[in-house]
Amino acid sequence: MKTLISEFQTKLKEKGYRYSRLRELMMQIIEKSERPINANNILESLVNFNLKPNKTSVYREIETLLNEKIIRQIDLLDGSKRYEINLNSDEKNSFSQAGHSHFVCTDCGDTQCLELATQLNSLETEIEQKFKFTINQRVLEFFGLCKKCF
Ligand SMILES: [Zn+2]
Ligand SMILES: [Zn+2]
Repeated sequence: MKTLISEFQTKLKEKGYRYSRLRELMMQIIEKSERPINANNILESLVNFNLKPNKTSVYREIETLLNEKIIRQIDLLDGSKRYEINLNSDEKNSFSQAGHSHFVCTDCGDTQCLELATQLNSLETEIEQKFKFTINQRVLEFFGLCKKCF
C-alpha cells in the first residue's frame, strides 16, 4: 500500500534530499496527530522512538518540510506555531485541506481543524462576485477558549 509518507519520501528523494530517519519519524508524528502540533510536541514524541534529537535538527527538518509544502504552519496569536500535514486541495477529502480553518484556544493553545468548507466556499463565491475579486488563498482562524479553559 502506498502511504502518504512514502509519497512524501519519493517527492523528497526526487528533489535530491537524502533519507533522514528523523524527518521520516517527524512526518509520521505530524500525520498521526489528531490536532496540529508544535515543535515541543514533536520533540516529546520522538523520545518514544528512542531518538534524542537536538532542537536545532528538529527545527531544520520543520523548515525543510515547510519549504517542500509537506506540512503547513498555523500561526497562533502569541507568535507560537503549530504544524499539520499539507494535503492537496484536489484530494478527495471530506473538507478542503488547503483552505480549512482552525479554532485556537488562546489559553492552552489547543488547535482544532474546522470543517467549514461548504459554508466558506459559498461565502467566497459571494465575495468574488460582490467585489470582483478572484480568491486563491484563504487564511481564517478563530481564537477563543476551549472547553477545558472556558
Ligand atoms: Zn484551552
Ligand atoms: Zn488543520
